[in-house]
Amino acid sequence: MLKQYLLAPGPTQVPEDVLLEMAKPMIHHRTSEFSSTFKQVTGKLKLLFGTEQQVLMLSGSGTAAMEAAMINTISAEETILVVNAGKFGSRWIDIAESFGVRVISIDLDWGTSVSVNDVKKVLDENTEIKAVFVQGSETSTTASHPIEGLGELIKGYDNTILVVDGITSVGVVDTQMDKWGIDILVTGSQKALMLPPGLAFIALSEKAWKNTETSDLPRYYLDLNKEKKSQIKDTTAYTPAVTLINGLNKVLDNILEEGLENIFKRHEICRLATTAAMKALGFELLASDIPSSAATGIVLPDGFDGVKFVKYMRETVGVTYAGGQDHLKGKILRISHLGYHDVFDTIIAVSAFEMGLKKFGMDIELGAGVKAAQEIIVEYLGEI
Ligand SMILES: *Cc1c(COP(=O)(O)O)cnc(C)c1O
Repeated sequence: MLKQYLLAPGPTQVPEDVLLEMAKPMIHHRTSEFSSTFKQVTGKLKLLFGTEQQVLMLSGSGTAAMEAAMINTISAEETILVVNAGKFGSRWIDIAESFGVRVISIDLDWGTSVSVNDVKKVLDENTEIKAVFVQGSETSTTASHPIEGLGELIKGYDNTILVVDGITSVGVVDTQMDKWGIDILVTGSQKALMLPPGLAFIALSEKAWKNTETSDLPRYYLDLNKEKKSQIKDTTAYTPAVTLINGLNKVLDNILEEGLENIFKRHEICRLATTAAMKALGFELLASDIPSSAATGIVLPDGFDGVKFVKYMRETVGVTYAGGQDHLKGKILRISHLGYHDVFDTIIAVSAFEMGLKKFGMDIELGAGVKAAQEIIVEYLGEI
């Protein structure tokens, strides 16, 4: 037997009760039964996003919501600012270039976070900027960006909106769309929301909805006004992902029962335990400014074959981590703390990592990382 442990930052593990919910027979989507579920889900999504706005559900992976954010609010030849600090930051640029949108980017070293002041400087020098596109958590580098501060800043620019890819920050760290002044917030189903891939979520502020009236980029399936018209009436423009939405209803019940504060705390404890373990083992972390609570990126030593390690751990040991992307391929390892993941998943992640290193000939002390992680976790266990 080779038991599989999925410890990568998406797709994440799906809880058993959610799997069972999704195993129920198919129902038709133009029914009061489905609309009733849909209504419950949208109500709970508003709490998750911290917004009074409708949170639209789209069938597609997270990137569908990223694309929808841009094509519904920006026009061809307009200029946007992208915080480009990793694979997903550069995806904003790729989308913009596909639609003829002009891009100014703040290009940062992978692992670093943008400073609010640097964004302010660029905005003040380029008053034509219509929107700032950023990640809440740049999953490819395991670094976060200061979203609350950016929201505060961009509230002061009447003609600029703040668009946040919250795919590994919504449901991981506190993200208050309305209060912080986030104009567009997107996420996806297969990360913190512990569902299979296939659903994307997007909410727009009044300021962002206003842009949709003038933006002229081509759109059909991802036309958010059309979706909004249907979704405020608890139905969708096209056939929704019925099964995933049923599963989501269960996930959101579980999330609200655990409590958002407790969920943020759980992710943070797993991050702190992983960090302590890696430090005890002598590793350097990739995220230097604001580490993300979604995953921890570890810099592998020169000459270490990270690609071979990830493959060996997954295929022979049964533990799935994520490696690095683009120029960090083979050079880093990313250990997730995301979604249906608790402190003992972190212990497995650290323990298997140590054993894998030993197999790969590294001179480390078995148990040193586990012990450091346990010391953090034991503080977090409940009272007797
Ligand atoms: C996973 C991820 C995406 C891409 O989402 P897909 O579901 O693969 O389209 C975008 N941004 C971030 C921050 C992510 O973690």
